[in-house]
Amino acid sequence: MKKITQLFMGLILVLAPLSAQDFCSLVHIPLEQRMAHADVVISAKLMRQECFRDLRDNRIYTRNFLVPQAAWKGLSSLPAAFEMITEGGMLDGEGMSYTNTLMPQLGDEGIWLLYKDANRGGFLPYASLQGMLRKQEDAYYDYNGKHLGKAVDFMDMPAVLPEKQVSPKPSSSAQTITAGAINFSPKTAIAGIGQVLAVTGSGFGATQGSGYVALNPNGMGFSDPIVSATFRYISWSDTKIEVEIPSGFSTKIRVVGSSGVQESTDTLRILANVSMRQYNPADFFYLNNQNTAGGYYWTMHHDIRNNSAAKQATEDVFRHFRCRTGVHYTLQNSGTSARFNLGDNVQSVAFDTAGSEMAAGIVARYEQLWSSCILGSVTFYYVRSQELRFSSKFDYYYGTGAVPAGKTKFRYVMMHELGHSLQLGHVNEEGQTMHPVVDNLPAIKWNKRDTLTKEEIQAGSYLVQQSRNFSFRACGLLPMLEPANCNDVYGSASSLADRVHVNLEVYPNPAGDELSIRGLTAGVFSYCLFSSEGKLLRRGTADSGNNVSLQGLPSGCYFLSLNMGGSQSMHKVLKQ
Ligand SMILES: [Zn+2]
Repeated sequence: MKKITQLFMGLILVLAPLSAQDFCSLVHIPLEQRMAHADVVISAKLMRQECFRDLRDNRIYTRNFLVPQAAWKGLSSLPAAFEMITEGGMLDGEGMSYTNTLMPQLGDEGIWLLYKDANRGGFLPYASLQGMLRKQEDAYYDYNGKHLGKAVDFMDMPAVLPEKQVSPKPSSSAQTITAGAINFSPKTAIAGIGQVLAVTGSGFGATQGSGYVALNPNGMGFSDPIVSATFRYISWSDTKIEVEIPSGFSTKIRVVGSSGVQESTDTLRILANVSMRQYNPADFFYLNNQNTAGGYYWTMHHDIRNNSAAKQATEDVFRHFRCRTGVHYTLQNSGTSARFNLGDNVQSVAFDTAGSEMAAGIVARYEQLWSSCILGSVTFYYVRSQELRFSSKFDYYYGTGAVPAGKTKFRYVMMHELGHSLQLGHVNEEGQTMHPVVDNLPAIKWNKRDTLTKEEIQAGSYLVQQSRNFSFRACGLLPMLEPANCNDVYGSASSLADRVHVNLEVYPNPAGDELSIRGLTAGVFSYCLFSSEGKLLRRGTADSGNNVSLQGLPSGCYFLSLNMGGSQSMHKVLKQ
């Protein structure tokens, strides 16, 4: 009977991506189907990782060495280690990360659903993010935080090879949990921006000692003592604890204190979540004034630009982000035929094509190349290149409002992915744009909406503020500027600020001992000259039209930052 059910499920779901109302970035693939499509199913612990760059596409990948504990499929004996390739990783101070992509961390343990990679050889997680069932405190969780149970009965098949403990854990004695004795405030929050949670009750202990507050930082249930110890505690007394709400998901509150474990009845609802940590090992990435016109240029692929409805949808979503979050993203007036080159410092919006398809079940994803710059003891992480990749396999609806049956709402998906570019992580609150899965009835709550929610606007603006106000000055990095006219999504009818940048020219370049600046309007400007390593060499002010001296500097590459009327521009200069 079970076999027949599985076969039936398989048939239905092959059709599902085309016929279901999936209008977000990820289509849920039922576990039965994932099991059926995987070539190898093992439980294993991730013991070692190695990043490498594949020169064929100039992208960073990670080789993950899994130590298997048991096998359900595809193996007749347990190897000492099993190699799995995942997308993204860190190499030489830069990294690539993708949403809706499995990016496991060392020590991760669970069940891995793997399939043979026809292109590269080796094994990949099936449906990427959906190819791992995480084990935490002896229970298993699906990618969406769904609790699967303590045993592995949900696998619906017996292990071919018995379970072997890699690192036996001391059996923990069962905890008694007292429910309902604690209260907390606020009841709804934005995670990751320093909001403080006040927990009240009794028996917490006069001092924190080994006590902690457990929340849900990664969607997999209550945090363990080690993770909980990393939260920022403001105060701790026997009756009240204050702690900053770290990036994470909606959760009940648990306090482990001197009188044992207490749990709230209510749930703290996290409506927006500032966090790219789930995709990136380093946790904060600044946007900056990359194009020296205030921020970043985004280019539409011809496939999108030549489709007037898709172009209009893209313009509208970018305008919404400019005006509601203040992010300085400017669309380019010309299209591109290039797709997904993360190294080119051009942000693009494009459909994938044959050979570059995303993992099964993915409608779209946000791709990011970040770099780091080190000055003294500070390592500064910044966003260098971004892509919005849409699957070409879906039938898109480009309009506003409710989405017709069987179509995928392009604007909604784009809003979700651009939300990631402001470091909004996923939430487990259905109804919010950043909920990753939208393929059932509650979707009705948001398929008519064409704007971010107010919590998402507040959270997205937070990252924009950080990106406008950072004081780090090296590697030519300058803060992002506020768009002068947020409605002007192409920057064409441009403000003074935009014009100043576009028209400024530093010449001659390569230069001798002196640089001149053409295009300055009357007034005083200030400048900073940086070495190619980002070291500030000299600064000064000069009247309009005056020159900047390079005298005494060795030949080489320099960065000249010009500051006038509150707007800045950066110029690369070669001294002969
Ligand atoms: Zn997402």
